[in-house]
Amino acid sequence: MALQFSGAAPGLPGIGEGAMAPDDLDLMLAALRQALTRPRGALAAPAEAEQIAEAAERAVGQSICEAGIGLSQALDVYAGLLSQQGVATDHPGYLAYIGAAPTPAAALMDGLLSASGMIGSGWLGGAGLIWAENQALRWLSDLAGLPAAASGCFVSGGTAGNFSALVAARQRYRDRVGMRPGLLLVADGAHSSIIVSARLLDLHVVVVASDETGRLTATALARTLAELEADGRLQQVVAVVAVAGSTNAGLIDDLAGVGQLARRHGIWFHVDAAYGGAFLCVPSVRATFAGIELADSLIIDPHKGLFVPYDCCALLYADPGPVTAAFTQDASYLEQINQSQQCNPMHYAFHLSRRARGVPLWFSLAVYGSGAYRHTLEQILDLSARLRTRIACHPRLTLIPACGLSVILFRREGWQARDYDDWAQRCLRDGIALVVPSSWQGETVMRLCIMNTRLDEQRCEALLADL
Ligand SMILES: *Cc1c(COP(=O)(O)O)cnc(C)c1O
Repeated sequence: MALQFSGAAPGLPGIGEGAMAPDDLDLMLAALRQALTRPRGALAAPAEAEQIAEAAERAVGQSICEAGIGLSQALDVYAGLLSQQGVATDHPGYLAYIGAAPTPAAALMDGLLSASGMIGSGWLGGAGLIWAENQALRWLSDLAGLPAAASGCFVSGGTAGNFSALVAARQRYRDRVGMRPGLLLVADGAHSSIIVSARLLDLHVVVVASDETGRLTATALARTLAELEADGRLQQVVAVVAVAGSTNAGLIDDLAGVGQLARRHGIWFHVDAAYGGAFLCVPSVRATFAGIELADSLIIDPHKGLFVPYDCCALLYADPGPVTAAFTQDASYLEQINQSQQCNPMHYAFHLSRRARGVPLWFSLAVYGSGAYRHTLEQILDLSARLRTRIACHPRLTLIPACGLSVILFRREGWQARDYDDWAQRCLRDGIALVVPSSWQGETVMRLCIMNTRLDEQRCEALLADL
């Protein structure tokens, strides 16, 4: 029998049988259907916060109030106003940053997961979901060629993944050398989240100069290691970080050379494949990732190239056993979980409560097959190559030849930084694309990143017409 609560005001419905009026449920499901099948035509800059506030106020008054405004009104505000503000990352014109274009199966499973009432922290609460997540992790781990014992968990994003991987690296360092301050070796093109992680972990960043193509090489790393040795600081190196698909240029470091050198020195080798990792399943570029199998830790963001909704990053460790010591939280109410021999994702990263956010990836892979993934990523590379060729043939544009995967960098003859900004604003104002300028070796350039297959000839034409 359900507990009875006193008081006049009705409480909240829970998830369960009869929890929602059938009409409300229909409204929600219709809205979901509409969101999934919405045309990706319009693309516009978001309104200011005050304008959104005014429009919401006009529609329903104060949206958060004592009595609630009810589902249909609140849904109207969401569907008619809030979800229209901002640029969807799955839009064909979303060419700035790195977009996420979820498959319908992944997007819907994300909602289903929320309705499951399950927590993905430990086996006890979410065994089945964690099993599914581990299937997806295994697929990624095998693509990378990590050892059979490799595993890890899903975290919220590349930033969280890089941070946790470096926590694990520092743990191993401390087990070995104690509390001496540590050094983190990174290339000058390392992602900003690596730098902020180093700051949070109190690691001193040593920048290794990348080569003229922007890659971290074994030669440069060897030079830095020799300098550190001469200074008597070699023993203080906690980890070396390489990138497999840099965000700015799509470059892949010399993973084999760097990995072998790190291994020879007993230095933790972390590979940041947040963006590039998805392309491991494409045979034509797989060889450029050679050496990724040497990683002690590896991150891949499925919310970038594996077509799942935010927020999802796969964090893998070659040898997960010792890692748990860094993350296990001691609390009397957690003792049972901490002592269990089952897979408990809470022990592999800086988190405790977590949704089983890897399930949509498992589901989408299961539904469509890895072949569909490979095919789509091949199409994306193909689309990028074609756009590169057009830019290279354009009379006023120069392609930056080093850029790789689905990132395209180019300069426009005679343009200063302001001109690139103006062009980006025009593209958004005209509803063509969201683009942002970037820089390459100190010079302002334009950067495009393709992460879905919806970019058509017409939009490419429109994009290039104004250059
Ligand atoms: C995107 C990205 C990150 C950060 O990932 P988030 O999911 O945005 O936190 C880290 N490294 C690289 C190489 C990336 O492309």
